[in-house]
Amino acid sequence: MATSDATLPERDAMEFDVVIVGGGPSGLAAAIRLKQLAAAEGRDVSVVLLEKGSEIGAHILSGAVIDPIGLNRLMPDWKAKGAPVDTPVRQDRFLLLGPAGDIRLPNALMPPLMNNHGNYIVSLGALCKWLGEQATELGVEIYPGFAAAEVLYNEDGSVAGVATGDMGLSREGTMKDGFVRGMELRGRYTFFAEGARGSLSKQIIAKLGLAKNRCPQKYGIGLKELWQVSPEKHQPGLVQHSFGWPLDRRTGGGSFLYHYGDNLVAVGFVLHLNYENPYLSPYEEFQRFKTHPVIRDVFEGGRRIAYGARAITEGGWQSMPQLAFPGGALLGCAAGMMNVPRIKGSHNAILSGIAAADAAYAAIGEGRSHDALSAYETAVREGDIGQDLKRVRNAKPMWSKLGTHLGIGLGGVDMWMRTLFGGASVFGTWRHGKPDHESLVSAKRAKPITYPKPDGVLTFDRLTNVAFSSTNHEEDQPVHLKLADPSVPVRVNLPEYAEPAQRYCPAGVYEILTDEKGQPRFQINAQNCVHCKTCDIKDPSQNITWVCPEGGGGPNYTAM
Ligand SMILES: Cc1cc2nc3c(=O)[nH]c(=O)nc-3n(C[C@H](O)[C@H](O)[C@H](O)COP(=O)(O)OP(=O)(O)OC[C@H]3O[C@@H](n4cnc5c(N)ncnc54)[C@H](O)[C@@H]3O)c2cc1C
Ligand code: SF4
Repeated sequence: MATSDATLPERDAMEFDVVIVGGGPSGLAAAIRLKQLAAAEGRDVSVVLLEKGSEIGAHILSGAVIDPIGLNRLMPDWKAKGAPVDTPVRQDRFLLLGPAGDIRLPNALMPPLMNNHGNYIVSLGALCKWLGEQATELGVEIYPGFAAAEVLYNEDGSVAGVATGDMGLSREGTMKDGFVRGMELRGRYTFFAEGARGSLSKQIIAKLGLAKNRCPQKYGIGLKELWQVSPEKHQPGLVQHSFGWPLDRRTGGGSFLYHYGDNLVAVGFVLHLNYENPYLSPYEEFQRFKTHPVIRDVFEGGRRIAYGARAITEGGWQSMPQLAFPGGALLGCAAGMMNVPRIKGSHNAILSGIAAADAAYAAIGEGRSHDALSAYETAVREGDIGQDLKRVRNAKPMWSKLGTHLGIGLGGVDMWMRTLFGGASVFGTWRHGKPDHESLVSAKRAKPITYPKPDGVLTFDRLTNVAFSSTNHEEDQPVHLKLADPSVPVRVNLPEYAEPAQRYCPAGVYEILTDEKGQPRFQINAQNCVHCKTCDIKDPSQNITWVCPEGGGGPNYTAM
């Protein structure tokens, strides 16, 4: 018989000043800043940080070209302290791809905010690992391998903290040998820094109505491979972005190629999740992109050394929910602080961590607890993050509504106007359309897409690539991809949308198989999941909920 809360042993509880969920740039920056403030005044602030990855950085997947504004503010001496930030951007290149050729867009046409001069190419995972070391040195208690699985509330409805997930439940939910009950971590303030589509953040946003009167959050899926290329193909500091082929004009997305480090090239493809054709496979579009004549050459003679995928928020300013609520706050991409045209969110993630820490530190000093940190909300909206997001607010809705060419063009005009006229533009603020799970058309109205077979050299099949994410989950545990109604995939999604989960999942987790009676059957290969959260976002029936598996499970990225 499966265990229920009543049959489980009591949970132990620990008290902290601040509990932080997530060891990405936002959570780590908050942790570091709290300790820095306390050290400067000789006070003590207890800070705990939970990370579901097996170590800090293991679940971080990004580009990444970083704007150092956040890092400079958090730790001005980051260079002297040995931060893994070594490759300055030397050249920006923007390409519009057609099936056989490309047009290079003049840099002078680009709004100044698109210029990467002064930015750095990094592995965000490696940077987070380093930030984790700095946080530990400052006295932050960091627990990697522990997923926050439940939000705890006080009687007055304020957030009291979180509970970590139980370890050692079988697939059926019974206690196995070595079962360990989760812990309650209670804080005066709890920061949710889970990144895009955070599982607890999603619950809180819904429960507390934090997204009321906001546009729906929009998302993309980012797929990435890391390559070690031949030295003669490596151009350290080159940042190249493209849009266009292989996507049609109604499907938003584009690529990045960043040359850095030891002959490394980070190649990635971001596809907007408001795509319409249920036969589209973001993974296959990424593979196809690499075969373009002006792209493939970079990889000849090289080898792919890592693969992964992660959702990215795209709603920006119009979609940002209320950030502060009694007892807690949403940080970084859990609140959607991504600047879409710049493909950058890590600087805002760090800035939000700093702002949240400042507000919580002041509140704790005043003896407050479990109230809403309104100073944090104000700092984000009226400070650098708000500025950064407001001036690009129309780029994504214009692209989605007008298509790639007109949308990007008009988005550029809007950004130029805001640059020249102190943030003003004749276009006002465009709203986003419907949520991404509502954008698929029926399979009957869509054109099936035939993708080329992988060659195993430049292009790979999904499962081979998943092996390069070093993903690992304890197999005998409850499936962490919860179906509200198990009949929906075959009863609704298959006839209506040719069950798109088979194609949008970048790790081949979902399959339609045939059972012994010749009937279609939905299979979930949960152990392959790379925690990108796309299924939670894109399932047209909103029948799939991603919850944290046992802590430590998932990808083991080393330098993504
Ligand atoms: C393909 C791609 C390319 C990108 N390129 C760039 C770029 O070039 N430059 C740039 O600045 N930004 C880029 N971004 C965006 C950038 O990565 C994010 O803005 C940034 O990582 C957000 O930081 P965060 O701390 O909010 O969340 P994340 O970095 O997502 O970190 C969240 C952390 O919380 C952990 N976590 C989540 N839920 C739980 C839980 N319940 N319990 C415990 N731990 C949990 C996760 O494992 C993760 O480690 C890119 C993103 C993608 C996907
Ligand atoms: S199962 Fe969902 S979260 Fe996991 S890799 Fe597939 S789409 Fe991403």
